[in-house]
Amino acid sequence: MKEELDSILKEAQEVKNNIKSLQDLENFRIKFLGKKGLLKNILDKIVNLPLEERKELGNYFNFVKEEVEKIYKELREKLEVGRFIKFDLHHPGRKISKGHLHIITQSINKIINIFSKIGFDVELGREIVTEYENFDSLNIPPNHPARDMWSTLWIKSQKEKLLLRTHTSAHQVEILKKKNPPLKVIIPGKVYRHEATDARHEMQFHQLEGLAVGEGCNIQELKGIFSIFFEEYFGKKLEVIFRSSYFPFTEPSVEVDIECVLCKGRGCEVCKNSGYLEVAGAGMIHTFVLKEAGIDTNKYYGYAFGLGVERIIMLKYNIPDIRLFHSSDLRFIKQF
Ligand SMILES: [Zn+2]
Repeated sequence: MKEELDSILKEAQEVKNNIKSLQDLENFRIKFLGKKGLLKNILDKIVNLPLEERKELGNYFNFVKEEVEKIYKELREKLEVGRFIKFDLHHPGRKISKGHLHIITQSINKIINIFSKIGFDVELGREIVTEYENFDSLNIPPNHPARDMWSTLWIKSQKEKLLLRTHTSAHQVEILKKKNPPLKVIIPGKVYRHEATDARHEMQFHQLEGLAVGEGCNIQELKGIFSIFFEEYFGKKLEVIFRSSYFPFTEPSVEVDIECVLCKGRGCEVCKNSGYLEVAGAGMIHTFVLKEAGIDTNKYYGYAFGLGVERIIMLKYNIPDIRLFHSSDLRFIKQF
């Protein structure tokens, strides 16, 4: 009878691997552990044995029964986990991150919005321009020393000399010709310089050109435009000062400074303790440029300015390095 018990255990261990469903498992239970199963069958025989043999075989029977039950339990646990794929409806799902506009695009949109409110239209120009558009039309003839102010990326071309615009001023004459005064226009766009990069300089950056021509345009109005713009952009009233400067296409020319947004004029590392930050170049449009566009210089005056877009974004958000904008570092981009 011991051999019979051994063969039952052996069989249970062998069929274990063939059990793939709960129905298979139920068949297993009926066959080995059921009321008319193999083990019950043997137990009935053991009960009728003489006491000594009954004791000995009884212990062995219990051992085999426990082993078979263990197999049954293991199989049931395995099959039930497979049947009920456990969904935890309260577990937080994986966050799907949505893309958004780059901080430069967001800021240009904001800048355009502010200038639109004070009457400026938006114009766009090509990034590849002619030597005439970038220089000659702006009172910068060949061999003029001022050409050194813009480190130019030239493009190999057959007929006229082409280049990647070094400033958005390259569109001044083209737009003045296209639109009749009075006019107020801004021209945002990428510009290029052949320069080594560092925390303050990039080979490619954004400028915003402003251009206004009318009978009453004057430098006072220009200053007013800056006051309104910077107050709107930085969200607080800031002192604007003009410092005398030189550009071939404006006369007089000024550098535009604002009260340091970080130290409120008290002096800090960013403003080099001056309390002021340089944010734009500007001036009254030179008569050479107006004449080049066919505008009557006895009747009309104009002012122009060029804003460094990255520069004012860096000041607003206290960004220490211009190269971060195009670094593809998501930790930087996701902040905005
Ligand atoms: Zn400061």
